[in-house]
Amino acid sequence: MAETPKHFDIVIIGSGPAALTAGIYGARGGATTAVFGGVAPGGQLLQTMEIENFPGFPEPVPGADLMMKMIKQATRLGTVIFSEEIKAVDFGPRPFTLTSDGGRVCTAHSVIVATGAQARWLGLPSEQKFIGKGVSGCATCDGFFYRGKEICVIGGGDSAAEDALFLTKFASKVYLVHRREALRSNFRLQEKLRANPKVEIIYNHVLEEVTGGTHVDGVNLRDVKTGKARRLDLPGVFIAIGHNPSTEVFKGKLNLDDTGYIVTNERMATSVYGVFAAGDVMDTHYKQAIVAAGSGCKAAMEAIQYLETLKK
Ligand code: NAP
Repeated sequence: MAETPKHFDIVIIGSGPAALTAGIYGARGGATTAVFGGVAPGGQLLQTMEIENFPGFPEPVPGADLMMKMIKQATRLGTVIFSEEIKAVDFGPRPFTLTSDGGRVCTAHSVIVATGAQARWLGLPSEQKFIGKGVSGCATCDGFFYRGKEICVIGGGDSAAEDALFLTKFASKVYLVHRREALRSNFRLQEKLRANPKVEIIYNHVLEEVTGGTHVDGVNLRDVKTGKARRLDLPGVFIAIGHNPSTEVFKGKLNLDDTGYIVTNERMATSVYGVFAAGDVMDTHYKQAIVAAGSGCKAAMEAIQYLETLKK
């Protein structure tokens, strides 16, 4: 069996639509291309029940199916996909050096960072205490455990709305608790929420405490307008209050903004020449799969152009 090459023209870190589109464009551009996608390549869309705003799919497509198609497409075109995470990067000497959690060390002329974002927590001690014991950040992973039970979702954006709708498949009732008097989520999702008899939206409330013994038995809420307390007795709490960019590995290596996003110019270039970034890790505004895919395309085209400059 041929040995896996240790050097690539382009190494892409991440596995969502930005990373895999970069993989497709890198390989089609004639570059030896690798994607380090972690144990479950596919990114956040793996946790999305159905996508109906990705062009080319007239019917809603499960996020996992869309990602499998992207993985197959990138692989067919010659991109090597490793189910390992990059844990260390050296952007000093060239070619760049990358080390995976599996101990694999490889070099690359160009790197595209597309590590996406991870779910944000409220940071309450009681929330942290019950993670895995009734508090969850992943509706698709844990919804199944709440068949026939009441649960609540915290948040008011698209993630919270999607999670609440998904959880109605299992739960007898889903409280969607939002701190303001209007949801931030898109119109279509709000329509679906309103049409679902299992969903009750509790506006103007914040989660103050998660309570329980070995497992969650309820939440204490506070009305932000009146200051009045409200109690919900239930065994499951899903936190869906947005995402933070996954940039831990790049602190001190690439310019990040105050909130941790990688700073790029309009051509996806980071502060290190030859290193590009794409997708939610640099997108502070849109955070859509199609935008991530587009930025992955741009990053790969820029990386290919950068490789050309090395030949001169
Ligand atoms: P988001 O749009 O930033 O919404 C986060 C929600 O959580 C907001 O309603 C926010 O409240 C609330 N929140 C934040 N911090 C909080 C705290 N400490 N306590 C209580 N509530 C808090 O995040 P998201 O829903 O994950 O969406 C992120 C991006 O991905 C968006 O651009 C969204 O459109 C996109 N997305 C799209 C889809 C889709 O198209 N189907 C699905 C998922 C995500 P405020 O409203 O008061 O700020």
